[in-house]
Amino acid sequence: MIDMKQLVADATKWRRSFHQHPELGFNEHQTSQKVAELLTSFGLEVQTEIGVTGVVGVLKNGDGPTIGLRADMDALPIQELGCADHKSQHKGCMHACGHDGHTAMLLGAACYLAAEKPFQGTVYFIFQPAEENLGGAQKMIEDGLFERFPVDAVYGLHNWPGLPAGDIAVNDGAMMASLDTFEIKVTGKGCHAAMPHMGVDPIVAASDLVLRLQTIVSRHVSPLESAVLSVTMFNSGEAINVLPESATLQGTVRCLNSQVRKQVEQVMTEYVASYDMSPGLQVSLTFNRGYPVTTNHPENAAIIYEVAKGLCGQDKAHHNLQPSMASEDFAFMLETCPGAYFWLGVDEDESIALHNPYYDFNDKVIEVAIKFWYELVKQQLPK
Ligand SMILES: [Zn+2]
Ligand SMILES: [Zn+2]
Repeated sequence: MIDMKQLVADATKWRRSFHQHPELGFNEHQTSQKVAELLTSFGLEVQTEIGVTGVVGVLKNGDGPTIGLRADMDALPIQELGCADHKSQHKGCMHACGHDGHTAMLLGAACYLAAEKPFQGTVYFIFQPAEENLGGAQKMIEDGLFERFPVDAVYGLHNWPGLPAGDIAVNDGAMMASLDTFEIKVTGKGCHAAMPHMGVDPIVAASDLVLRLQTIVSRHVSPLESAVLSVTMFNSGEAINVLPESATLQGTVRCLNSQVRKQVEQVMTEYVASYDMSPGLQVSLTFNRGYPVTTNHPENAAIIYEVAKGLCGQDKAHHNLQPSMASEDFAFMLETCPGAYFWLGVDEDESIALHNPYYDFNDKVIEVAIKFWYELVKQQLPK
């Protein structure tokens, strides 16, 4: 029998060490090395450099079903402002999204499962790089993740401010929104500001387009669906007496439904094309598809909910809360395999938002997460 108190103390130590030595996406060299060393010390077979810095630990116990458990390892380009002893030692880089906690908890689960082997089949512990905007999950998939380590289902979690510490929440469908970005270039004809009739003004056209874009969500998307379209940058002009040659708009689109996501892109493309027909104007759109909607498979979400109820009690397990309009690249894994993604509450007296320079993962939830992963494997890969 494993000494749970000791395991939680070890995992807390690993978490704080990751917090002290954060690394940005695809640069998690020390982190992945430490992960690989620990997994090896627990007796797992380890593969490294999957999707640049990704690591997979394989724990096999006879023939049977397979399961993937995923944690992300990257930090953010933020200067930490907190004053904990384990404060980041890397200037301008910190674990402000709690991925240090995700990594430590999954390592704890690997140690526990390797020691007791309460299952029959194979568990793949997936440590991915670059969740923050860089699509590390997609990179691992392109590198053959699920061909090399075929899973019947894959599961991931995120620590979640806004939920009490130790609570678990899962939805049957969307958990997190898609993330796309766009750039629209409006080119007219520059001229003297005192003689606007001699040119074609891109600022007036781009301003009109900003307002027109606001009608996509309000007039095209069903009011029963959710979408956000924000123009976040509007750049043009350099002199007070000059009408510039061009203007550039940039922004982001978030949706909770892949059909709505397609619709927003399509209407935006049509609007831009119609402006491109205006006399003297050239208008072009670059639409960059980023992360898909993080959509749970209902059967796997039901499994998470049942394990959560059994482990934490009915009042600490939540089903079908409102999704978040933030995004998550675990979405790529859920597009490839059945599975589910859930939130683990971290709030005690106060709630500090993810990506805040004072964020520090709450070590008090390490134990419940280790036990959760253990129970999930035990139930899904029965002996
Ligand atoms: Zn984040
Ligand atoms: Zn995160």
